[in-house]
Amino acid sequence: MTIIDGKKISQEIQTEVKTAVMKMKSEKGFVPGLAVILVGENPASQAYVKSKGKACEELGIYSITERVPATVSETELLSMVERFNNDTKIHGILVQLPLPKHIDEQKVIEAISPTKDVDGFHPVSIGKMMIGIDTFYSATPFGIIELLKRCKIDPSGKHVVVVGRSNIVGKPIANMLIQKKEWANAIVTIAHTATKDISYYTKQADILIAAIGRPKAITKEMVKPGAVVIDVGINRIEDATTKTGTRLVGDVDFENVKEIASAITPVPGGVGPMTIAMLMMNTLKAAGGRV
Ligand code: NAP
Repeated sequence: MTIIDGKKISQEIQTEVKTAVMKMKSEKGFVPGLAVILVGENPASQAYVKSKGKACEELGIYSITERVPATVSETELLSMVERFNNDTKIHGILVQLPLPKHIDEQKVIEAISPTKDVDGFHPVSIGKMMIGIDTFYSATPFGIIELLKRCKIDPSGKHVVVVGRSNIVGKPIANMLIQKKEWANAIVTIAHTATKDISYYTKQADILIAAIGRPKAITKEMVKPGAVVIDVGINRIEDATTKTGTRLVGDVDFENVKEIASAITPVPGGVGPMTIAMLMMNTLKAAGGRV
């Protein structure tokens, strides 16, 4: 059984991006630039934005973080996006979600130029992904494909069962995996809350992807022996034995499922660290670079 080390793979990718950024700087005289807009003071968003800025710094990517209060108007936010759309030093724009209720999130996403859409949430990026044209893929599903690739787990011809159909994980990963291309070409089933007997489907999975948001929802009895299990979930549960009184767990009952899986991602340290690496990769790509 292999425990897929997302932290190590993420580091490898970031090292490759750093090398490509240095090459870009010496050959073309510029570096990729990322603009991050953070609205309000949501602690989780603040932590994500901080780690994105830190990653940019470590990789030699130029970055700007605009922090604005939760009271910012939609018009002000849209004009901020427009300013970055026209800024030649900025190749990627990211508006940290969620946004306050009075702002139309979709409108803001669509205001970002598709050429700078490093989060891969713009309908143009999603449409291209759907029809198999190279584009910006959103970081978490892109990270899952990269994990499979780097662990030499080829999904071609395999039955992949995805539990969850969100726009940021379930739907895009399912779409990416059905493409007729390398590191895809799978037979994909998507399960969700209207699925009556989830186990019926999960037990058929050669590769099981859990993106549910419910702690330890996938138990050993739901998994086929020898399956590859990718756990996207990040759930905080109470744990009196830790200093903080809480700890992070995935959507999979890791301790028991690892007994029968052929490979499994842990939480933390599996899919999570990949997200930032893929954002850095997208920013490099937006500036015209490749690893
Ligand atoms: P989401 O938007 O809440 O979507 C959850 C999906 O799971 C929905 O499609 C929902 O079905 C389905 N679902 C919920 N309960 C279910 C059940 N009992 N049986 C079957 N399906 C069920 O969540 P998300 O944004 O996709 O995130 C999922 C998890 O991944 C969360 O824990 C989140 O924190 C984590 N996450 C991690 C990363 C990372 O970097 N590793 C990135 C993004 C998200 P319906 O559509 O029918 O409601």
